[in-house]
Amino acid sequence: MIHYDEPLFRPPSEAESLIVQATIGCSYNKCTFCSMYKTKRYTAKSYEIIAGEIDELSSFTDVRRVVIADGDALALDTTLLLKIFAKLKETFPNLRRISLYGNTGNILKKTDSELKQLSEEGLSIIYLGFESGSDFILGKINKDVSKKDQAQAVNKAQSCGIDISATIITGLGGEGYWKEHIEQSADLVNISSPKYLSTLSLMLQPDCHVRFTAPFKSLFTPQDDMGILKEEKLLINLIKSPDRIIFRSNHASNVLPLSGILPRDKEKLINQIELAMENGTGIRPLGIRGL
Ligand code: SF4
Repeated sequence: MIHYDEPLFRPPSEAESLIVQATIGCSYNKCTFCSMYKTKRYTAKSYEIIAGEIDELSSFTDVRRVVIADGDALALDTTLLLKIFAKLKETFPNLRRISLYGNTGNILKKTDSELKQLSEEGLSIIYLGFESGSDFILGKINKDVSKKDQAQAVNKAQSCGIDISATIITGLGGEGYWKEHIEQSADLVNISSPKYLSTLSLMLQPDCHVRFTAPFKSLFTPQDDMGILKEEKLLINLIKSPDRIIFRSNHASNVLPLSGILPRDKEKLINQIELAMENGTGIRPLGIRGL
């Protein structure tokens, strides 16, 4: 039986996918709001260990989707990733899609030719946390990237054939900076057009509360549900990308589950949000929200 190093995370859209844990933790691990991998020290497993674990998973038949964990498996050398992909395809002949988490830095570090090779050998989606498009907020959360870097990373990966699934965290600017956060995030989406976009809501674990709020000094007041819905509404309203963006807010942390194609379904989604703001329609009870 395969042993995963817990905690183990995967995007909601990969709920049915097989997980291959090629790395432990996140190679960056310094974002102030994030507790996901704080208990882990970043380690890249050797090919021999990963191949042995894929062999252990080979009893699963008809595997069509694999997600490579943990935090940013794209930090692995391209040669190693290509060997892992080859082993996966040999073990699971029905495999259709390989995805992984990446960050802006490790996309920009790969050459175009490396990204094209990864795409040709099966990498379909990189999950990328934008968190915000505001350079001010990115600085406060210690993300160590700019809006310009993030747009460049999306354009680079997508032009090499790999789709980007990007995430924005509503509530990240609190009451004080919500407009700046959302306006700049919408601008980032408009200049980069990720194939998929999702929102999740800020939920701080006790261990990162002080770390997250300290850089805002006394100016951080968390958004309540109405504040979060106001952010979702403005974000959707400002998205004017000429491309089809598949939008979801189906993460366990979300106040209101939403899904549609942007900008096509803008009106429908805004109506849904307005209804929730008026009489609570569709709002998920607090007790069932989580990370
Ligand atoms: S948000 Fe992503 S990049 Fe930042 S510490 Fe968490 S896993 Fe790492």
